[in-house]
Amino acid sequence: MEKKTIRDIDVKNKRVFVRADLNVPLDDEGNITDETRIISSLPTIQYLIKNNAKIILASHLGRPKGKFVEKLKMDPIAKALEKHLAKEVKKMDQVMSSKVKNEVRKLKSGDVLLLENLRFDKRERDNDNDFSKELAELADVYVNDAFGTSHREHASMIGICKYIPSIMGFLLEKELNTFFSLLKESEHPFVVILGGSKISDKLGVVRNLLKVVDTILAGGGMCYTFLKSIGFEIGKSLLEEEMIEYCKQVLDEFRNEGKKFLLPEDIVVAEEFKKDSVFKTVQIDKIPKDWLGLDIGQKTIDKYKDEILKAKTIFWNGPMGVFEWESFEKGTKEIAIAITESKAESVVGGGDTIAAIKKYNVADKIGYISTGGGVSLKFLEGVKLPAVEALINK
Ligand code: ADP
Ligand code: MG
Repeated sequence: MEKKTIRDIDVKNKRVFVRADLNVPLDDEGNITDETRIISSLPTIQYLIKNNAKIILASHLGRPKGKFVEKLKMDPIAKALEKHLAKEVKKMDQVMSSKVKNEVRKLKSGDVLLLENLRFDKRERDNDNDFSKELAELADVYVNDAFGTSHREHASMIGICKYIPSIMGFLLEKELNTFFSLLKESEHPFVVILGGSKISDKLGVVRNLLKVVDTILAGGGMCYTFLKSIGFEIGKSLLEEEMIEYCKQVLDEFRNEGKKFLLPEDIVVAEEFKKDSVFKTVQIDKIPKDWLGLDIGQKTIDKYKDEILKAKTIFWNGPMGVFEWESFEKGTKEIAIAITESKAESVVGGGDTIAAIKKYNVADKIGYISTGGGVSLKFLEGVKLPAVEALINK
């Protein structure tokens, strides 16, 4: 990797701004359900502590849309960090304020300060220049360790790099190396399993995966736009209306290239989007008008399993259904287990997908667990990640 890392510079007594990806999944009570992203961020932080830097940590959490949301405060994350680092983390109640600037000035070597949720400030997502500059003024050096956010052109990811020397943290480096070799050295068949709910993000990358992969297994919220595009009625299932035509084209392109793009044959449908809703399994052409699809059915599971067992390389992002609810977890659970039974090199990414493999106790049988979901798809797609490009070269 030709970008500078924290190994390449002297951080002693320097104020180092670390943009981490501490965007962990939370339950309804605001408890962290999976700490993977926090734990993965520790090596960089620990290195900086050991080397006597003054650390200013920052991340976003969830999607507060530019305003304060009580439930998305960084407090539980500060607590988890304190537990893992076994030292105090000074949690700020604001993203940016004179108090924040004051506290930063008081930092001693080895201290760790955590800013409030970056996305409470609308300017973060706007990649606002003044905000980037204000963030940069807190520090002498910028470290990007947020692989999961590196496809986003946000102030703490891109703009800030204009103002202070900007380098790579250990996690970002490790993630990039892993995906790089996955692309370069992957054995075929290369099977990509796609699901989840962030469909507008994910649908767009699918077309370009054609160049890399042999088979796509689609499930979760993202498969319904595809099903709709070939004429199925999907009831009230998730739909990205303006992507219908695109989805149809993608399916054609895969077919023309002789590659497989598999869609569900049967679906677990629910009357309402509720944990204890009535549900049943139906063939894909029998989704009742006012119901919605919340998991893949057993026939689909079996078909997907066959492909997984034949694969030599597997990448999985996005749960197959609403696995958080028992009635709709089977698809995700069986796919997770099938991956561990296959002999393929496996990489799994995405906050919720990681939560799923933890839930089914298969994490230690997965080749590599990536903190990135959408971003890893972008990488596989061959897109240069803007936040990585913005860092300084060796
Ligand atoms: P990741 O975090 O792994 O990248 P996403 O954030 O895109 O994945 O999606 C995860 C969420 O998708 C889960 O919370 C799950 O409940 C939801 N989901 C999966 N299938 C469906 C579906 N058919 N309808 C609605 N939501 C779904
Ligand atoms: Mg998610």
